Amino acid sequence: TIYLDHNATTAPAPEAVAAMLHALEVAWANPSSTHEPGQQARRLLADARDRVASFLGCQPAELVFTSGATEANHSAVLGALHAARGTRRERLVLSAVEHPGLLALAARLEGEGVPVTRLPVHADGRLDLDAARAAITPDVALVSVMGANNETGVLMPTAELAELAHAAGTRLHVDATQLAGKAALDFAASGADLMSLSAHKLHGPKGIGALVVRKGFALPPLLCGRQERKRRGGTENLPGIAGFAAACDRAAATRADDVARMAALRALLETGLAALPGVQIYGARAPRIANTSCLRFGMLDAELVLGRLERAGVVASSGAACSAGGTLPSHVLLAMGEPAEHARAALRFSLGRDSSEAELRHTVAVVHELIGPLLEPAAQAA
Ligand code: PMP
Repeated sequence: TIYLDHNATTAPAPEAVAAMLHALEVAWANPSSTHEPGQQARRLLADARDRVASFLGCQPAELVFTSGATEANHSAVLGALHAARGTRRERLVLSAVEHPGLLALAARLEGEGVPVTRLPVHADGRLDLDAARAAITPDVALVSVMGANNETGVLMPTAELAELAHAAGTRLHVDATQLAGKAALDFAASGADLMSLSAHKLHGPKGIGALVVRKGFALPPLLCGRQERKRRGGTENLPGIAGFAAACDRAAATRADDVARMAALRALLETGLAALPGVQIYGARAPRIANTSCLRFGMLDAELVLGRLERAGVVASSGAACSAGGTLPSHVLLAMGEPAEHARAALRFSLGRDSSEAELRHTVAVVHELIGPLLEPAAQAA
């Protein structure tokens, strides 16, 4: 199988699997126990925290391990709103193209009376900074915007948003889930106050991630308990944490080369596919992470295209693998102003560190052979 769905998840790196096995088989004690096996687990936890922090450009004390980006996002939003209780800061500002889990949380909060502003994006997927300027005012408790969109790969202007947020005396949360391994991460320099990550997008295990909380920000916890300096209760997922740290080490060692290779392979893919009539590539001229290509073949339904490709051994996904069922048109493309029938045709190829030139050449050939004949030159007008 040619796997081109790395934005959904990545295969665990061998180093991550080995580190997880060690934590499961050897360092399996509870890191809170004061006996020697517990202290051994505690040392492993501290070591892993140092390595993940170094990868993210944050201080180890700023790093809170969570069950993934979904939990980190919930923790950031609910914690920031909680921290602002009793002040005039009660509004949540986020982009219209956030991860579905975060948008669902915002909708629930809105139903409970929290004012929510959803920032629009331009036709190419870039955030509308004028709208952000107008929305980020002193009544805002938190601005939450992703680093890169999971469907289109389009980068969000987080440095500018950090400035706007701080000028209004509020805070910025960045869901950096899709940046890890595909762009340099430097929490200290980013200006963000909170940052979410998920290890499985980075060749680490599933069910583990992190929320980085800037020093000095006393974020109320989502899960109460004494672990993680009372910032996230629950016995630590040490196998997950050890695998996360190993995945970060591996990514740090090769990221620059990986990104350059993925960018070249994506160019090969997009050039090859754009030779067909009626192909539209989303966000092609916007700044994007190097691995993602979101496009449509005329008006062909994404599920039909994906089915044909899968029978030929190529797997990708429609817009958001994360929006269940895949029958609803992608909220990201709708926010970009695409009509529903275009949004339903959109699919996403996302390359990974191990994607090869042979795989991408084969994919282009398969698409030309199986999808090309379905595309009428007249469909170009679409
Ligand atoms: N945010 C973004 C931008 C994502 O792409 C994802 C994964 N699809 C998540 C959050 C959620 O990550 P997890 O399922 O690991 O919690």
